[in-house]
Amino acid sequence: MTEAERRAALEAIAAEVRVCTRCRLHETRTKAVPGEGDASTEVMFVGEGPGMNEDREGRPFVGRAGGLLVNLLGHIGWFRDDVFITNIVKCRPPGNRDPEPDEIAACAPYLERQLQALDPSVVVTLGRYSMGRFMPGVRISQAHGTTRIADPATGARDATVFAMYHPAAALRTPSIERESYEDVTLIPTVLTEARARRAEHRRAAGAPADPALASDPAPAAGAAPAAGTAAPGTPSIPAAEPPSGPTPPEADPAVDQLSLF
Ligand code: URA
Ligand code: SF4
Repeated sequence: MTEAERRAALEAIAAEVRVCTRCRLHETRTKAVPGEGDASTEVMFVGEGPGMNEDREGRPFVGRAGGLLVNLLGHIGWFRDDVFITNIVKCRPPGNRDPEPDEIAACAPYLERQLQALDPSVVVTLGRYSMGRFMPGVRISQAHGTTRIADPATGARDATVFAMYHPAAALRTPSIERESYEDVTLIPTVLTEARARRAEHRRAAGAPADPALASDPAPAAGAAPAAGTAAPGTPSIPAAEPPSGPTPPEADPAVDQLSLF
């Protein structure tokens, strides 16, 4: 898909979301929040669901949690416009309650189609509900800061999933905020490894090499999320430190194939 085609596909999905009545959340929303970002990005962030500010504006992560997300991205020299940001449910659960399983299921086709359209290299999950779609059966206290290969059934054809705590949890708990700043420093390396994995798959399939890799010999610490086109002036990023915590047990052979951790 060309960038124009991806943009058109994402806009078509957004237009459907804005008028969607597939679950009860449509009854109480002000505006649906389809998601937004760079249509040629390699990195998609998936949160839980809109809060009050997002419901008012129709845009994801524009409240306090969004402020922290922007600061976390800034810690690695990235901007929110560099990535694509969306949620598991596109309409605000009343009173910010947790989304119900039937609401998550009703909304899932939109995320699946967004993933198909963007075909990201990396999916960053924010919080338990998002992680649950991509890493079922793990605990966030164990899985944050770790990767797993995405099940293509999610819509992400060839992606690496990276789990983080929800920024709202980080706002409530200083230790989670600290861990979130540690986790985010791993993302450039995760992206570099994910690109290499995809390039290997393309080679194995006999497809031409990814021009992004040809032009970017993958400096692990400096990877920017726009198909290898690191903007001039992008600050260089200190190398990610090895994680200090224990490695979570591997529940699944597909887990952590990047041997990053
Ligand atoms: N929390 C989320 O999970 N998503 C948003 O868009 C905002 C806050
Ligand atoms: Fe439709 Fe999703 Fe909103 Fe439910 S939450 S009404 S499925 S867009």
